Amino acid sequence: MMLELNTKRREVVDITEKVRKIVKDLSNGKSGIAVIFTYHTTTALTVNEAEEGLMDDIINALFSIVPKMEYKHNRIDNNAEAHIIASIVGNSVVVPVDNGEIVLGTWQRILFIELDGPRKRKIHVKFLNI
Ligand code: ZN
Repeated sequence: MMLELNTKRREVVDITEKVRKIVKDLSNGKSGIAVIFTYHTTTALTVNEAEEGLMDDIINALFSIVPKMEYKHNRIDNNAEAHIIASIVGNSVVVPVDNGEIVLGTWQRILFIELDGPRKRKIHVKFLNI
């Protein structure tokens, strides 16, 4: 099932409740795993804490660890850093599902990271009964 987001230039978005609802519908009370996959090359997914300050810190720290250099890709669309960060963080997360409910630790949330918005973004949520 597809999840769509309208994003800002750079931001971390907590998509946990949207994913929870989709997985509930897809799983029909069964247990297994959910795969959450972003279709884009300048976005990423992670599981972490949705504290407002931390969500800004994640974006700022990720951009600061990518070296300032002359990227070849920037001749095309000036977003090489966003592609590199997306590659480092990854484009999917897997979470366990018990009886139709996604299972997360107390402070864990599913976070979508926009690195080169604003854009309309698509995330695929899949449930596997295993
Ligand atoms: Zn690009």
